[in-house]
Amino acid sequence: MNDWQLFSSTDMVNWKSHGEVLNVDAFSWVLRDAWASEVEERNGKFYFYISAEHKTKPGKAIGVAVADNPEGHFRDALGHALITNDMTNKSESSFDDIDPTVFVDDDGQAYLYWGNNTCYYVKLKENMIEIDGEIHTVDLPRFTEAPFLHKNKNTYYLSYAYGWSESIAYATSNSLEGSLTFQKIINRPVNNCRTNHQSIIEFKGQSYFIYHTGDIGGEYRRSVAVDYLFYNEDGSIKEIVPTATSVGPAINAHAGSYLGRNSQVNNKEWTEHRELSLLEGDKIIFKPQTSDEGTWSWSGAGGIRGNQSRLHIKKLKEDMTGNLVALFTNNKGKATFLDFNLIVYPQIPKGLKSGAMYVIQPANSDYAVTFEETASNSEARITLDELSYDTNKLWRLKLDDDVFWSISPSTELSEGFDVRDGLKNDGADVLLWSYWGGTNQQWYFKKLKNGYYQIKARHSQKCLTYDRANNRLIQSADTGNMNQLFKLIEVK
Ligand code: CA
Repeated sequence: MNDWQLFSSTDMVNWKSHGEVLNVDAFSWVLRDAWASEVEERNGKFYFYISAEHKTKPGKAIGVAVADNPEGHFRDALGHALITNDMTNKSESSFDDIDPTVFVDDDGQAYLYWGNNTCYYVKLKENMIEIDGEIHTVDLPRFTEAPFLHKNKNTYYLSYAYGWSESIAYATSNSLEGSLTFQKIINRPVNNCRTNHQSIIEFKGQSYFIYHTGDIGGEYRRSVAVDYLFYNEDGSIKEIVPTATSVGPAINAHAGSYLGRNSQVNNKEWTEHRELSLLEGDKIIFKPQTSDEGTWSWSGAGGIRGNQSRLHIKKLKEDMTGNLVALFTNNKGKATFLDFNLIVYPQIPKGLKSGAMYVIQPANSDYAVTFEETASNSEARITLDELSYDTNKLWRLKLDDDVFWSISPSTELSEGFDVRDGLKNDGADVLLWSYWGGTNQQWYFKKLKNGYYQIKARHSQKCLTYDRANNRLIQSADTGNMNQLFKLIEVK
């Protein structure tokens, strides 16, 4: 690829091509390759930062072009590269100087971030084409490439490609001069492509996550994708829901009211937190609150698009669990979002008997779950010991609420498996505690084809996991590994 193309849109749905706006030929110092770029406006000019292969200094380099409007045609602002490979020595790689992103803070200070395997940044002068001071590095876990900086309220968010194949994760800080705190992954590896280079923008009051997949062309003929990005109340970013259908038209969507609690979901109303708990095979139907507001259409909901007065999702599957977004618009220009967390639980496995006693054996082990009394009255440590049918290795499973079970020792039926302090993180330990019906004490079961069970905590949806090294049980995210599988042997 030797050129950069421009498309524009006023609604995020209909896109107009403006053709080539910049070509590598504009840079006399570039050998080849039009790579990742970003454009930043300042003082009525548009600055176009690019990555390309340098002609005389081996490796990639970053250049900057300028134009008076986004359609260009852009010209080289410097006549030489802004960053060359020899200016950064943290990595021996010849392509650590790629993927520029520029951010201008509220006080007018501009920053250039870039990197591959090492994340670099440097201040820019107000003219946007000269660096100002030393080049620094940023410590980020599993940084691969593609840094992008944005600000929401008073927090700086540095998102980047994490690991390989790439997820997108982010870190935050209250100051760009301070260190960043790693947060979490927001976009998992995409279809057909090991990279997924993101940017995060706000348009007409809505945040968007723009990235690429290999959906149409594959690894090296990438497809641009746009999906909604939402923040939680504490400012954290909800995991992106990659949709095949992208987003609906942007028309001041928040002006409308949520289709609230009158919406029907299998006769279950959604909660204040817009969380829906449903079972595999359930259906969802949303109706607008009033019927006199014209014809409603919707889009972008879990990959489903339609044009009717109801959002109707048939046959939920457990893998649909996550953040689901729908934009409803009507023919009078009103719009409203549905944005909620959907949790789809597996149906109760056939053959599992409420009130029956079981030995719980971790897959690929000769051990069974048992417990040790501790000094505390109500707390006991769950451990593992040689497989046998002793009473202290028998557990009563009892269906307590909907699809959720308690797991109690046969000798102490008032106690049960409990995730310590209701923690939701990976590694939180599972102990015995007086059973009071907490969601951190209730478990749901999924039977796999190989006959083993996954056992998940209701409050965290995380798997009961055999921590072999420490001979105990913990919760951790579902990895599909054997240490999250258990055999349940009924004992009569
Ligand atoms: Ca370098």
